Amino acid sequence: MKRYICLLLFVAVLLCACGAPAADNNTALTPGEYTTQPSEPISADLNDSSAMDMINPEIISTIDPERPMIALTFDDGPGPYTQRILDTLSANNARATFFIVGNRVKSYPETMQAIVDQGSEIGNHSWGHASLVKLDEQGVREQLIWTNDEVEKNTGVRPVLLRPPYGEVNDSVTAIVKDVGMPIINWSIDTLDWKTKDPHKTYDAIMGSVTNGCIILCHDIYEETAEAMETVIPDLVKAGYQLVTVSEMLTLLEGGAIAGTVYRSVN
Ligand SMILES: [Zn+2]
Repeated sequence: MKRYICLLLFVAVLLCACGAPAADNNTALTPGEYTTQPSEPISADLNDSSAMDMINPEIISTIDPERPMIALTFDDGPGPYTQRILDTLSANNARATFFIVGNRVKSYPETMQAIVDQGSEIGNHSWGHASLVKLDEQGVREQLIWTNDEVEKNTGVRPVLLRPPYGEVNDSVTAIVKDVGMPIINWSIDTLDWKTKDPHKTYDAIMGSVTNGCIILCHDIYEETAEAMETVIPDLVKAGYQLVTVSEMLTLLEGGAIAGTVYRSVN
């Protein structure tokens, strides 16, 4: 998969305060079975335009940058309902971004590959879903690197985007994320699907607020969310939106992404 997103040196540190914590059953780190030591910081050359992207040129050529586009994002998986969402995406010629929790990858290897094969994007949502602002520097690096390593080991694709658990970052976390070479992707529409667990409310939360360039927060670990997507996704397409990955949207509308910068929407 050819890569294309520019990395630029730039400091833009913002704290995203929006969104309530997602319900999550992930437990403490179990690093023994995985990459037991944090790797060196990713040796991404920040001036190398190929250092961080996940763009398939064949897919991106099918997106019309003049037409509205949005990014559906799903956190906390992979899980038992991820495949159902992938099926809905495929049936509607749509894609999304799945911010996965590293310690869940081992339980869903086929789902991980299915995300890649479907054309959707895998992002990093930490290893064990602890808030990064509560960890020391080494702890933050471990959360990022272990997960990137695990995804790459399982799928051959290395995540380029980070969604911090609960959307929480601070200056020191952001500096580490920047050094690792990842932009921080939060959201502009919070469906609260984890809280309502009501497909109709999830539908209304999206369809009532959708705008060009928005990033929509959902969770693929709930059956109600997978059910909601079976009406949300076709109706978004009918409304004229192109459902693209976060990296595709950043590339087409922003010209790329900047490591350490927090994005909540792209417009
Ligand atoms: Zn989460």
